[in-house]
Amino acid sequence: MNASTIAIVGAGQAGATAAAELRRQGYTGRVVLIGDEPHAPYERPPLSKDVLLQPDTARCAIHADDFYQQQSIELRLGVPVVALDPHARTLALRDGTTIVFDKVLLATGARVRRLPMLDALGDGVHTLRTLDDARRLHAVLKPGRRVLLVGAGVIGLELASSAVDLGAEATVIEQAPRAMMRCSPPMLSEHLCDVHRARGVSLHLGVPIVSATREGGEIVLTLQDGTRCTGDAVIYGIGVEPETTLARMAALDIDNGIVVDAQCRTSHPDIYAAGDAACRRAANGHAVREETWENANRQAVTATRAMLDLAPESADAPWFWTDQCGLNIQFAGDMAAPEWLARGSLAAPPCVLFGLDGEGAVVGAITVNQGRDMRSAKALIGKRARIAREVLVDSTRNLRDLAREAA
Ligand code: FAD
Ligand code: NAP
Repeated sequence: MNASTIAIVGAGQAGATAAAELRRQGYTGRVVLIGDEPHAPYERPPLSKDVLLQPDTARCAIHADDFYQQQSIELRLGVPVVALDPHARTLALRDGTTIVFDKVLLATGARVRRLPMLDALGDGVHTLRTLDDARRLHAVLKPGRRVLLVGAGVIGLELASSAVDLGAEATVIEQAPRAMMRCSPPMLSEHLCDVHRARGVSLHLGVPIVSATREGGEIVLTLQDGTRCTGDAVIYGIGVEPETTLARMAALDIDNGIVVDAQCRTSHPDIYAAGDAACRRAANGHAVREETWENANRQAVTATRAMLDLAPESADAPWFWTDQCGLNIQFAGDMAAPEWLARGSLAAPPCVLFGLDGEGAVVGAITVNQGRDMRSAKALIGKRARIAREVLVDSTRNLRDLAREAA
């Protein structure tokens, strides 16, 4: 394997992590990391937060500038891979070069789901996925500007928080009945809406947009209930779609993402996939695709270990976080758990929420300004601990002890 070439398509979170991990594991063959964006690999989480709030000091590079050269990682930036031939084992780059690989990792991420009704408005309509998008938004989120945020997912709420911090007026429009519905239980969704409203954000939930027009200098979004929301700019975040173009070209299995097994192998034995683009076939047959920073890192490591024939590492419950309105909120495990209990009060954080399944086992947890409890919460999830409800919510009990003692 050491005299071979491993190519990585996508120089984002998963791609940059995979390249570094190959070297960390002692792989001495050729590593080529190819990205279509012009920037060296960077983290996306700061784009909706620090890059907007502290543009001069925010840092988002994944590795130091000289890391790639030091590690003999060939970094090809600003050049998309336009073809993948799984039989010839070649990648064709838009600049005309061809890379012959022994193994390839598809770390192509996801692209923003488009809303043609809004795109048709032209200027003044924005989305957020890339560093260049964030730099454009910085010019939009100015004091006194009225910003219409479409979608109350993580992007919509984080942008509402940053917009208010920057002195802009924010209106959030969401077609689903509650905010962050895909990744948060109702009690947290409702609380977050209260927090945003208290900061002056206007929220419209459960109402689709029926028309988008430009009247004079302003944008008007008319909702199904007749409400007219007016603003100077629109930013929408209505989810993402996995980037599967090359995988389709190579006739790999696709199902809401590039289908991979537990080792991140696709349906071709020498093609792997990781991150937002990858969709893991779980033991129950369901296809699971996660869109988180931690998943991108974890799958990158899993894929590279499998490429090098190393044993897989054990994994904790899935984890992600959001920062908004001065709250650091961390999530682990199953956010669709049917029952949720609060240890402490959401209205007066720190606080921890526990999600229980139908048998009373801990399957999910959310810490609010209490990240130091996350390790114990993950341990409880890992053990599917069944603890009396009154004990679990008793904040005088030490969570670390409960996790240690749980069967
Ligand atoms: P990406 O990081 O998107 O990288 C994929 C790269 O591949 C991109 O640069 C893409 O342009 C490139 N590419 C695609 N096709 C090709 C091709 N054919 N040739 C060459 N290059 C190609 N997660 C959290 O857990 N917490 C957060 O707080 C959080 N905040 C976020 C904030 C924002 C604004 C965004 C957009 C995401 C956030 N996320 C957060 C999600 C997290 O950043 C993603 O899950 C993670 O970046 C996925 O990594 P990835 O490597 O799969 O994809
Ligand atoms: P998201 O979390 O999937 O939320 C999108 C929301 O928009 C959903 O509630 C969706 O409702 C709603 N929506 C869909 N169509 C709509 C319409 N026409 N009008 C109004 N609302 C509509 O996606 P996102 O917030 O756009 O985030 C994009 C990506 O960035 C995701 O991968 C996310 O994980 C990542 N991200 C993560 C973080 C974090 O983890 N902290 C922060 C920012 C971004 P339906 O469910 O009904 O479609």
